[in-house]
Amino acid sequence: MNASPLPSVVPVVEKSPMASSVGFVPTMGALHEGHLALVRRARAQCARVVVSVFVNPTQFEPTEDFEQYPRDVARDLALLKREGVDEIWVPSVSEIYPNGLDDVRWVKPPASLTQILCGVDRPRHFVGVATVLKRLFEHVQPTDAYFGQKDYQQTRVVHWLVRSFFPQMRLHVEETVREEDGLALSSRNVFLSSEEREWARVLPNALRRLKEAFDSGERDLLRLNEVLRVALIHPKIEVRYAELRDAETLQLVENMERPVVALVAVRIGKTRLIDNVLLHASR
Ligand code: AMP
Repeated sequence: MNASPLPSVVPVVEKSPMASSVGFVPTMGALHEGHLALVRRARAQCARVVVSVFVNPTQFEPTEDFEQYPRDVARDLALLKREGVDEIWVPSVSEIYPNGLDDVRWVKPPASLTQILCGVDRPRHFVGVATVLKRLFEHVQPTDAYFGQKDYQQTRVVHWLVRSFFPQMRLHVEETVREEDGLALSSRNVFLSSEEREWARVLPNALRRLKEAFDSGERDLLRLNEVLRVALIHPKIEVRYAELRDAETLQLVENMERPVVALVAVRIGKTRLIDNVLLHASR
């Protein structure tokens, strides 16, 4: 017989990092294709996928829509099961805040991140976001966490949180999923009347116009700001802010030498919408 000699040591197949990876997508439910895109990305990249559904009371201002925030857990569960999610966590308020809402161990990111942009109208919002995410991350212990670029300021707060407390975790920021006419998907879009929904197109259109100006070579900060400001003028839209800021630090910029993000928040009727676009020279 011509048997080839057996190796005396069978090499152990090295476990790929994928084998033990846990991808985590925190959500407040009322899921749409934007959330599901994050879930699909986690599914493609991680061995296990965990999704949480928790409408976090501490990230709403007292005057905001916590009670009205859309909730449909049965539908969310069905959607997530269809995506092959391994674990869906729907915690109660007392699970997340065991000492009650009057005795919360707050996680406080720097004011330079939390008190600007959305933090002006919502001064407690990002402290609530950081606080709930720390708790969720501690429980799920993900290797990878997935967030949407739509909430750009949030992604920078999460970046601070991960760097401060979970340095091993990989943070993934995924592109904004949009309706056909460009409006970013948001759980709050259901609050828009059909008229308001039409007016809302001003938001993505303004950002597109700004991006076009940038892509055609405009680098004058004042002129870019002007393009954005003028494109947002609409009798039914109240601009809360429209600013160009450093894409990493979110601080104001004096020129376009580093990657910049244009961030916009508007109110249409009772609904607050946000969106953003990154401006960086293509390599
Ligand atoms: P929320 O349920 O609003 O807290 O959102 C949960 C996650 O989904 C956050 O990371 C959001 O940034 C992300 N997300 C929300 N809308 C979109 C969208 N249109 N495209 C991509 N991600 C989104």
